[in-house]
Amino acid sequence: MVHNYQRPEIYEVADFIGDSLDLSLKAKETNAQLIVFCGVHFMAETAKILNPKSKVIIPDINARCPMADMVDKEKLLIQLEKLPDVYIVSYVNTTAEIKALSYICCTSANAVKVVSQIPEDKPILFLPDKNLANYVSKKTGRKDIIPWDGFCYVHHLYFEPEDIKKKRKEFPNAKIIAHPECKPEVCEMADFIASTSGMVKLASLFDELILATEVGLCERIKREYKNKKCLPLKDSALCSNMKKITIEKVLKALEEEIYEITIEEEIREKAEEALKRMFAL
Ligand code: 13P
Ligand code: SF4
Repeated sequence: MVHNYQRPEIYEVADFIGDSLDLSLKAKETNAQLIVFCGVHFMAETAKILNPKSKVIIPDINARCPMADMVDKEKLLIQLEKLPDVYIVSYVNTTAEIKALSYICCTSANAVKVVSQIPEDKPILFLPDKNLANYVSKKTGRKDIIPWDGFCYVHHLYFEPEDIKKKRKEFPNAKIIAHPECKPEVCEMADFIASTSGMVKLASLFDELILATEVGLCERIKREYKNKKCLPLKDSALCSNMKKITIEKVLKALEEEIYEITIEEEIREKAEEALKRMFAL
């Protein structure tokens, strides 16, 4: 199972390539005894939460998402003491421990839908991405979303409105698509906002694209549609964590069945409840 941001040579050995929602749905359905998860740790953990019977391995145990690690149990419990009673909505980019404390999970592909269906009887604490929280608040009109102060270093720090202005001048016919993890001022200037697989789908409609997301996604789009012109908004927007997975490590993982993802059963069950609520919507 391979995330859209993985290296092109890893796409070639994939049984399935997708965004975090596609991958979690696949993990839930598969009867495979072994899942080799090529992505970051929270994604492999999600596969294990949803499919505890399968052995789930990740080829590099240090391939973690820094945004997911911006919220831990201690910090969350301290914050909760200061807040009124809230629904905790966790982006799938969180650890199993945090999912276990959440009411419901969401991904970038379904966050608007999930939040729009949460009862309005109490506010929402949205973890951990402040930019996705902002996007969802704008789209749903819910003003009672309290964002956690987290962000993705790739989407939040690499892209500025100025980059979009420059690229529009250079490529006036291109459509610009931003991931909702980008800053609000960047999202506002894009033609579309979409998850990584949403971008792959949108690409079918246009000949020229500029993507405000991790550079690997252009490789994915070029693989899917041979004649598209697809450029990253910034060549330097690389998620070094995703790129820790190499084809050599995938081979080693298959040969030695390392590194196995394990989760305490009590935490797994609670985290599964939050994910199941998302699937029920
Ligand atoms: P997607 O859910 O769009 O695949 O995004 C995951 C991610 O980590 C984006 O940075
Ligand atoms: Fe995490 Fe950002 Fe990398 Fe996605 S691109 S895995 S959110 S650090």
